[in-house]
Amino acid sequence: MTIREHLRTRLNGARALAFVAWSVIAVATFATDHMQDRTIRLTLFACFGAPVLYILFFIRCPRCKASVGQALGGRHPPDACPRCGVHFDERL
Ligand SMILES: [Zn+2]
Repeated sequence: MTIREHLRTRLNGARALAFVAWSVIAVATFATDHMQDRTIRLTLFACFGAPVLYILFFIRCPRCKASVGQALGGRHPPDACPRCGVHFDERL
């Protein structure tokens, strides 16, 4: 497995969870009265916020441990770590 595959797997898992949480929030907001309950509302927003924070702070370069999640989520993801320069096509 390459570093890119490793990082992409983690990024896509977090994105999928955030998308599901966002979808549930949207449906619950417009189609049900359950969003009136503060506990449910906070739980759903936490389910959305947790993957976002995970992407920002916990997807890290396996070599230097720099946070690279935000950079990978952009339109033109880098081919190498911005800090240590390891190419993401190298094997773990
Ligand atoms: Zn690095």
